[in-house]
Amino acid sequence: MVPIKSPAELDAMRRVSAVLRKIIDELRPRVIVGMATQELDAQALEIMRENAVRAAFKGYRGFPANICASVNEEVVHGIPSNRILKEGDLLKVDIGIELDGFFSDSAFTVGLGKIDGRSKRLIDATKKALDLGIAQARAGNHLSDVSWAIQSHVEAQGFSVVREFVGHGIGRQMHEPPEIMNYGLPHKGVVLKEGMCLAIEPMVNAGTWEVDISENGWTALTKDRLNSAHFEHTVAITGNGPEVLTR
Ligand code: MG
Ligand code: MG
Repeated sequence: MVPIKSPAELDAMRRVSAVLRKIIDELRPRVIVGMATQELDAQALEIMRENAVRAAFKGYRGFPANICASVNEEVVHGIPSNRILKEGDLLKVDIGIELDGFFSDSAFTVGLGKIDGRSKRLIDATKKALDLGIAQARAGNHLSDVSWAIQSHVEAQGFSVVREFVGHGIGRQMHEPPEIMNYGLPHKGVVLKEGMCLAIEPMVNAGTWEVDISENGWTALTKDRLNSAHFEHTVAITGNGPEVLTR
């Protein structure tokens, strides 16, 4: 069953998501060439502490860091490290936080300095696919309308959607039902209702959709080692359509 949030729970989701938005707005300009991803992790933790929220990823199934920082061929679940960001890299930052028992989850991709044209198009296609998926997150639609909107845009742009990782419901837990695939034919699955909260997160590869898991047991890598991009928002389905809580 997909949890339906009460008005009070939706307000709590708005509060935690507004804080996450603020954290991301502070962190994003700090991403610079020459920085190690573990420095970014430390800065993220500092900002989370200033805002009195908990890093939801830390310790989740043993995840060792506060944020996920995935570079280039790393799709998701990159562990911040001493890897130095260089000109032309794509960095995906994924952050989950908890405030007063409610979770919010959001991710973004940034290009460092001058990036190549195909990587720029990859980022744009992923961001647009997220927007198109969100637009389908309305009461009465089926869950796979979101999936299809994402897949059809991505593939029309000549890229591929990752199959092995999915978006998810979110609220009193980081991962609630339903699983939101980023591919699939429309008009299938759960009928969406007011009060559902969804973390929609297309992961888009420049080449093949297939991934490997790195030897750290966490990080997904594109099988062909080409670049990948990722955007995510936490969205509430309301009587007025989708409300993007983390925007
Ligand atoms: Mg996330
Ligand atoms: Mg997520």
